[in-house]
Amino acid sequence: MTSIDLADVTVAGVSVDTRHYIGGRRVASETTFANTSPIDGSELGNIARGGADEIDLAVAAARDAFPAWAAMPTAERAAILNRIADLVEERLPELANVETMDNGGLLRSNLRGVMPRVAHNFRFFADWAVNQLRHDDFETRGHTNHVSWDPSGVAGLITPWNAPLMLATWKIAPALAAGDTVVLKPAEWTPLTASLLADICADAGLPDGVFNLVQGFGREAGAALVAHPGLRRISFTGSVPTAKSIARAAADNLTPCSFELGGKSPCIVLADADIELAAALAVEQYDNAGQVCLSGTRLLVHESIADDFAAAFQAKAASLRQGDPRDPDTDIGPQVHAVHFDRIKGFVDRAEADGASILMGGTANADLGGLYFTPTLVGDAARGSEILTQEVFGPVLTMQRFATDEEALELANGTEFGLAAVVVSGDRAHAAAITERLVAGTIWVNCFFVRDLRAPFGGSKKSGVGREGGTWSFDFYADVKNTVVAPHGWKE
Ligand code: NAD
Repeated sequence: MTSIDLADVTVAGVSVDTRHYIGGRRVASETTFANTSPIDGSELGNIARGGADEIDLAVAAARDAFPAWAAMPTAERAAILNRIADLVEERLPELANVETMDNGGLLRSNLRGVMPRVAHNFRFFADWAVNQLRHDDFETRGHTNHVSWDPSGVAGLITPWNAPLMLATWKIAPALAAGDTVVLKPAEWTPLTASLLADICADAGLPDGVFNLVQGFGREAGAALVAHPGLRRISFTGSVPTAKSIARAAADNLTPCSFELGGKSPCIVLADADIELAAALAVEQYDNAGQVCLSGTRLLVHESIADDFAAAFQAKAASLRQGDPRDPDTDIGPQVHAVHFDRIKGFVDRAEADGASILMGGTANADLGGLYFTPTLVGDAARGSEILTQEVFGPVLTMQRFATDEEALELANGTEFGLAAVVVSGDRAHAAAITERLVAGTIWVNCFFVRDLRAPFGGSKKSGVGREGGTWSFDFYADVKNTVVAPHGWKE
């Protein structure tokens, strides 16, 4: 472990503070951890390595800031969130470039899609708190029921590396809009844009202590945060094993948890599907180098069109360009980290050893080396085998054939996950008969990744606990209260 040297590093021409942000101040730690870019392995800087002490400080700061933030009129809180959104938009190219250097996601996606959604997260939840969050009062035997969403306290937020700032702000924005204060522990592989957000919050006039950031490892800073008795909420996006350990830690304080977890989603191509559309949607499942929780990685294709589909799919997949994610012509960049690359390779190697066929890819890109794993298609895997049941979280799709709808549904629902599903069909009634029986939080029919913040988002089975989006986010972060007022007893 090295001791911390410089507070700021320069990444993609942008100055990034490597320290925590606690109570409106930058705070260093005695130790740091190295952060490297997946693009070329270059060192991006040494990041403050927080633990229980920094978490204690951050939760105390958030608790101190809570009463005034909670008491602030919702419209004033919303105005500050909208200023944050303005500054995110002003600094959008910087945020996009730093994120790309840190996690290897495509720069063009960060510029056009991801960072605009970061700003939208703040605007949307600010607007929802002011204009949408209401329930009509209703009468019970002449008494009036009035439902309100009260600020609840400090929310601990833990987020993954695959869409770092987008996923973090999907929690920060509704928590702040609901009147909570927060402590964020971002993923250790991608710590940088959260630090830029701290600068933005300060510049937008967010009161000190309302947003706090502690950098560090999951087993240190993360574990200390979720075990902290000062939290009123824990919102976590990440893997199932981590969620289980968080649930155990939260149990001691009975802290309510929201979990957005992994998936093994099916992409079901029915016999009546448009094959070109199906192939295009299947290729989209490689987005973000396959590091998308929602990816429909299991291609389930009706046997009558399976050969035609496979040919169309492979033709489209072959035209994908892999390379530097900063290049606008690149379709697939690197995996986020060497540890993750090896994990993906391990899944593919074990599938092959178990008798599956590697129909496409399966190795590092011969020209690029490094962390660039080629888009991969696995066929002939045995039912129930690891590659068909465990989340790989890389550019690895499997293909299985089915003969009947019953079989398609049995395969589709046959994992412990239930995050998403894609259905491709040319017949509305047929598609509806399938979607009705799928167990998944989000289903896309003849499309993929169409998202609206008004919609509920989350997973069934081991893919999650709870839903986020619109009212569902406020239902979680707020203390929902019902006040029943009698018609009698008044002195007027
Ligand atoms: P992970 O569970 O390893 O880590 C996620 C976060 O948890 C990181 O910040 C990490 O530091 C922290 N953490 C690790 N151990 C901890 C502990 N003991 N206590 C507290 N915090 C701890 O997951 P990951 O590899 O970063 O992310 C990939 C996973 O996230 C995949 O399973 C993916 O499907 C899932 N994911 C889900 C969604 C969704 O919305 N459902 C979105 C994105 C990613």
